[in-house]
Amino acid sequence: LLDATGAAVPTIFAEMSALAQSTGAINLGQGFPDEDGPAEVLEAARAAIAGGVNQYPPGRGDPDLLAAIAEHQERFYGLTPDPQREILVTAGATEALAATLLALIDSPDDEVVVFEPYYDSYAACVALAGARLVTVPLRWPDFQPDIDRLRDAVTDRTRLILVNDPHNPTGAVLTSQVRAEIVRLADRHDTLIVTDEVYEHLVFDRAHLPIATLPGAAARTLTISSGGKTFATTGWKVGWISGPESLVQAVLAVKQFLTYSGGAPFQPAIAAGLRLPDAYFTGIAATMRAKAALLGAGLRDAGFAVSSPSGSYFTVADAAPVGAMDAAEFCRSLPERAGVVAIPLTAFVTPAHRSDYATLVRFAACKRTDVIAEAARRLGAAG
Ligand code: PMP
Ligand code: GLN
Repeated sequence: LLDATGAAVPTIFAEMSALAQSTGAINLGQGFPDEDGPAEVLEAARAAIAGGVNQYPPGRGDPDLLAAIAEHQERFYGLTPDPQREILVTAGATEALAATLLALIDSPDDEVVVFEPYYDSYAACVALAGARLVTVPLRWPDFQPDIDRLRDAVTDRTRLILVNDPHNPTGAVLTSQVRAEIVRLADRHDTLIVTDEVYEHLVFDRAHLPIATLPGAAARTLTISSGGKTFATTGWKVGWISGPESLVQAVLAVKQFLTYSGGAPFQPAIAAGLRLPDAYFTGIAATMRAKAALLGAGLRDAGFAVSSPSGSYFTVADAAPVGAMDAAEFCRSLPERAGVVAIPLTAFVTPAHRSDYATLVRFAACKRTDVIAEAARRLGAAG
């Protein structure tokens, strides 16, 4: 995590957003929206600040937010967690992931199975927790795991299977066959499932199905989500975790010494968001789907081969047809050459596996339509 001079190595998101700023390029790298989310949510935060909600909230979370999370899980998924026992509010999904891994890893022999490519904090937090990372590849263009590879990866050494669905960086949504296999393997090897579902409301052509709803899954599954993507408030860092009381207690035991609590006025605002009518949630999925389609068409016109995302903020393109040999090199020069920033998929894989993803690039579609269209125009003009 440190370089040769002792400086913290910036994450790929920090590096690429800095490049976007210094070159004035369009930032299709770091996944954050360039428009505000629902007025009700923003107004609720302003009202909370004006109303004096500015001191430490309870460590487990604002009781009204805990209640809103439980209501949301029942409304969309038929799950009925107890707000005071089976839910915990965290400083974004990032803290939920870190606290969960620190809480549940017992020994250096514990293994954590992840799909690769993976969101960058997964490997870092597995290392911080002192466990071994075992990867199952997701391959271009559909990015579904091979079931036999998954079976080989999960053993009696597996402490937990860490899933991300919908998936960052590929935009894949797991098939029901893969989801069922994860639950079957977890049962057979008595492992836990931790599932990061921060893009739960950005699934394009079906309803999101949390792994926790599968038969036999709930007793061994912790589900993580966040208000950041659903309400376009990535900077607020209000996340949560839900699952069996004993597991949530273990995560709370760690979380209380990481941040204790946070985001006081943002917690009631996210509660207001979670109570918005169904039309809000179907609306953001439809909007993101249209943006992904626009981005995909633009990339295709510019000469890239493009995968078809089923959800999330992201679309993966193969830059080989436009002459790239190495996506990291390609992305480093793209701001100068084309005025666009994107992220190489190699940033999301272990060094030994980089060559399998050598020419693949992640583009974020969570930007205004005119911004996506302009980025596509620039990529086409750059040839
Ligand atoms: N998991 C995934 C898959 C993500 O994409 C992100 C945010 N980009 C996070 C976790 C972190 O979420 P938060 O901002 O709520 O900490
Ligand atoms: N989740 C966002 C992405 O994947 C960025 C998060 C971050 O900057 N750490 O682009």
